[in-house]
Amino acid sequence: METINLLQDKKIAIVGGGPGGLTLARLLQLKGANVKVYERDFNNEARVQGAIVDLHFESGLKVMEDAGLMEAFKANYMPGADKFRLVDKNAKILADEHEQSSDESFGDEHFRPEIDRGALRNILIAGLLPDTVVWDSQFEHMVQVNNIWELQFKNGTTATADLVIGAEGYRSKIRPYVTDIKALYSGATIIQGEIDDPEKECPEIYALVNKGNLIAMGSGKTIAAQPRGDGGLTYYASSLYPEDWIKTSGIDFNDSEKVYTYLVNYYEGWDPIFFTLFKACSHFVPRPLNYFPLDQHWEAKPNLTLIGDAAHLMPPSGEGVNTAMLDALDLSECLTSGGFQNIEAAIAAYENQMQLRAKLLGQEALEEIKDFASPSEESIKKLIKQFTPIGLSKE
Ligand SMILES: Cc1cc2nc3c(=O)[nH]c(=O)nc-3n(C[C@H](O)[C@H](O)[C@H](O)COP(=O)(O)OP(=O)(O)OC[C@H]3O[C@@H](n4cnc5c(N)ncnc54)[C@H](O)[C@@H]3O)c2cc1C
Repeated sequence: METINLLQDKKIAIVGGGPGGLTLARLLQLKGANVKVYERDFNNEARVQGAIVDLHFESGLKVMEDAGLMEAFKANYMPGADKFRLVDKNAKILADEHEQSSDESFGDEHFRPEIDRGALRNILIAGLLPDTVVWDSQFEHMVQVNNIWELQFKNGTTATADLVIGAEGYRSKIRPYVTDIKALYSGATIIQGEIDDPEKECPEIYALVNKGNLIAMGSGKTIAAQPRGDGGLTYYASSLYPEDWIKTSGIDFNDSEKVYTYLVNYYEGWDPIFFTLFKACSHFVPRPLNYFPLDQHWEAKPNLTLIGDAAHLMPPSGEGVNTAMLDALDLSECLTSGGFQNIEAAIAAYENQMQLRAKLLGQEALEEIKDFASPSEESIKKLIKQFTPIGLSKE
């Protein structure tokens, strides 16, 4: 039987150059498709939010392999950054993977190597044809004329495409063209802080982080800290808050002194070493952790779909980047396998797989986030038990 090339002579617009969108562009270009990625960042130098991400054997790493980017990944990952250390509010170490010998490596299903988000982005971009990413293209809206999408960007430029994929994260402006299902609040909020030179500005806690994943838990609060690839440090102070707390708290999150004062009060009774972390930070971002309903479903569109957080935002559980990359793999395979009569059927098959996976992972993420953000003594004991020689998952 003759296979059908659904993408022949088709222009594809991927909106959003995060891990999902860039991976999809790479995979489609390997199949000869005509793809552009429209990214709102001004250029490649714009800072990528967040610290490191660990790729998993059955998802992120598998996709890197399929995308032919594994060697580049191995040259750029951060050996040792996958180790976890759990401490209590007195900074006393409760469990420590740094103390455990491990010979895990690539090919081992438990090995979850960490990479800086910026490094991952650079690898994915280097794998694309020149000028695939169109920077400074913040999508605003689009209209369909004779089955062709006309996209409008904030800087006044426009583009046309036969097929549009929304990959611009959970505040996606493409999503409303697919579904009107809105995000819900998980109950947990994090205050994210960035420190550019932690070795100098908060050396004690820098040593405690030990270039790995530090989790400090106690009294219904958590602080998680991770290294960045550039020597900086990212941390997340998390707890349970009402949905509109960021507005009603009265805290001006642009005023780092005010946030510092709030955090020192909120973490009263914790070892002062944690306050040095708050003090060294000049830039805080409050993030309510939202999610899209687990049972969401919509009718597949003939020339439009979503991947990654735009499709299935869930509370952080160490799966978001991995899942966005798996979405990219599934969608690229459905569109290029030759097994579907038309693009709509390929999109429908992809969306079924994607929604099923997101439902399972989202359920786990939701069950775990409150315990993570606001742990009980019982859940801390459970977490200690999870520290085994084969590694602790981020969940
Ligand atoms: C605190 C925190 C910690 C996390 N830790 C982990 C972790 O350890 N491991 C993990 O796997 N996941 C983690 N996640 C989840 C992970 O960050 C996301 O699931 C993942 O980044 C989603 O990838 P994406 O490509 O779908 O979207 P994004 O990474 O959000 O990328 C979207 C891209 O689209 C661009 N964009 C946005 N709007 C527009 C627009 N209008 N027009 C054009 N471009 C636009 C953005 O600039 C960005 O480049 C964490 C999330 C949070 C909040």
